Amino acid sequence: MQLDGKIPAGALQDKWDKYRFKAKLVNPANKRKYNLIVVGSGLAGASAAASLGELGYNVQCFCFQDSPRRAHSIAAQGGINAAKNYPNDGDSIWRLFYDTVKGGDFRAREANVYRLAQVSNNIIDQCAAQGVPFAREYGGMLDNRSFGGAQVSRTFYARGQTGQQLLLGAYSALSRQIGAGKVQMYTRHELVDIVIVNDRARGIITRNLVSGEMECYAADAVILATGGYGTVFYLSTNADSCNVGAAFKAYKKGALFANPCFTQIHPPCGMHVG
Ligand SMILES: Cc1cc2nc3c(=O)[nH]c(=O)nc-3n(C[C@H](O)[C@H](O)[C@H](O)COP(=O)(O)OP(=O)(O)OC[C@H]3O[C@@H](n4cnc5c(N)ncnc54)[C@H](O)[C@@H]3O)c2cc1C
Repeated sequence: MQLDGKIPAGALQDKWDKYRFKAKLVNPANKRKYNLIVVGSGLAGASAAASLGELGYNVQCFCFQDSPRRAHSIAAQGGINAAKNYPNDGDSIWRLFYDTVKGGDFRAREANVYRLAQVSNNIIDQCAAQGVPFAREYGGMLDNRSFGGAQVSRTFYARGQTGQQLLLGAYSALSRQIGAGKVQMYTRHELVDIVIVNDRARGIITRNLVSGEMECYAADAVILATGGYGTVFYLSTNADSCNVGAAFKAYKKGALFANPCFTQIHPPCGMHVG
């Protein structure tokens, strides 16, 4: 198997913008014809499931805890970076991109880091719209602090509980789509295998942790958002449930697994990449 990051061609700043413009669109009326599986309902999975449901797709979302609110994202503390340049201390998309590549020891995929820096501002707007109570200054504007060795103040935070507050925001968005009938939530379900049809993931096998029964679900696409794998290491701030189980099943089915040493890269930018 060849390692292919599928980075679009073109100048660094334009790669993903060009790709988005050229990508095939699904007509809004046709989105309800597609079924998607999202495994995981932490910050990554809950926001993916909520966004896809809001777009009109039929989503089935799985987690092994008794509630999406129990995902390990709840443990994150420090904050989330964005190049808003509110304090006017010289920040920019390019500087956030540069700091993040440097913080990753120049080993990250530059085009993807640039895209992350580009959307960082939208992530803050989306979270604020979901009701995440970021810290504010006396004037009411969102506050920033310097974090993770950065030379500028670009970290948005909610005391020492940013992850918890973000997770509650993502959970609210997810609950809205569950209420609207666009997302079906399956808690206490553990992914035990992935179904491959013609080299594509088309379904999953789960164990119902309440009844013990094995269940099978089919879809047009499967998204794994199953979090970190801290228990691989002797010392970690991750919970025991961060056990690499789902990623290992994907690996066994042929997915490539790269850079296991990159369990968290600072400065963090968007809880999704920690
Ligand atoms: C102490 C701490 C502090 C941090 N501080 C920061 C910070 O300041 N800034 C920052 O950006 N990041 C920080 N991070 C990192 C950040 O919190 C994580 O990268 C991020 O929250 C991971 O989100 P996630 O949705 O990928 O995973 P998780 O929140 O772990 O969610 C994983 C989901 O997958 C499900 N799942 C897993 N395996 C299976 C399976 N086999 N079957 C079914 N479901 C499964 C779980 O039930 C869960 O719903 C911190 C992390 C820790 C631990």
